Amino acid sequence: KPRLYSGMQPSADSLQIGNYIGALMQWRDLQEAYDAFFSVVDLHALTQPNDPAELREKTRRTAAQYIAAGIEPSKSTLYVQSHVPAHAELAWVLSTLTGFGEAGRMTQFKDKSQRYGQDATSVGLFTYPVLMAADILLYQTDIVPVGDDQKQHVELTRDLAERFNGRYGTTFRVPMPVIQQDTARIYDLQNPTAKMSKSAESDAGVLWLLDEPSKSAKKVMRAVTDSEGSVRYDRENKPGVSNLLVIYAALTGRQIPSIEDEYAGRGYGDFKKGLADVVVNEFEPVRARALELLDDPAELDRVLAANAARAESVARATLGDVYDRIGLLRRA
Ligand code: ATP
Ligand code: MG
Repeated sequence: KPRLYSGMQPSADSLQIGNYIGALMQWRDLQEAYDAFFSVVDLHALTQPNDPAELREKTRRTAAQYIAAGIEPSKSTLYVQSHVPAHAELAWVLSTLTGFGEAGRMTQFKDKSQRYGQDATSVGLFTYPVLMAADILLYQTDIVPVGDDQKQHVELTRDLAERFNGRYGTTFRVPMPVIQQDTARIYDLQNPTAKMSKSAESDAGVLWLLDEPSKSAKKVMRAVTDSEGSVRYDRENKPGVSNLLVIYAALTGRQIPSIEDEYAGRGYGDFKKGLADVVVNEFEPVRARALELLDDPAELDRVLAANAARAESVARATLGDVYDRIGLLRRA
């Protein structure tokens, strides 16, 4: 089977609906045809300030949500990044092949560093994409299913793989990003031109997978729309309504025109009510399952440990190969 790699940061207590629609729903489908590795990338989460006890808890919660959303740890390799030290080791090697200017062109770094300010921006945030390249390349990955905010990072990964292969001989498989175009970006409900993010400043426009469903319903009802009053997809002039239509279509598997028809001549109130029901129905069982898994953290930790062992064996083989090729002396 071809290999698949993807991951999410444990940067919040809950995942948000963009993570679910843009990533998890694809992962769930793709895990059948691919030898899939899904990581909770806790080393990446260190690029923002964390309370240690909370980070541990967020890591478990992220893993539980993967499983609750349908990732099967017997089928796919679902593990915690820091359990496999080869990630940090390969990242170091790749950082020596990455240009300073090249890393400086990453738009996510520009966005996040601007938000954090000079003093809170770490070297780790700058080299984040190099660690992400290591994550992917360690597993000889064929495809990387992500939202379009990660496309540039996967491009860098490809460049680094080709650069290494060119200099030292073919070592890495060069991965392809897989981006579901129509759901590649879910926007904030209160600010529908900004990407919805776990680390958004305000939580009013974010739909959390683990929130009380009634709370999510309220947020849908309060979502920013426009004064036109017709349920119609028009990304440019109606970003709020268009975003809601994309969410509606993604969660129901319906086409946008059929949803537009259903709500033709009806107000936004009806439409939002319909979407609130869809969201609650989708999230309720996922939330219940995740909370159930979190009731038994010891069992969850055992599953993660077994999966980490599987990941480690693949990662070690690639890293050993890399060390040999670049001329590091093997310990006798
Ligand atoms: P953070 O704010 O901490 O960066 P995030 O919500 O951006 O959190 P990540 O852990 O960075 O989440 O990304 C996890 C996956 O979810 C990636 O594949 C990313 O492309 C996807 N993703 C994140 N936000 C969205 C979104 N708004 N729409 C679609 N996909 C998204
Ligand atoms: Mg992100």
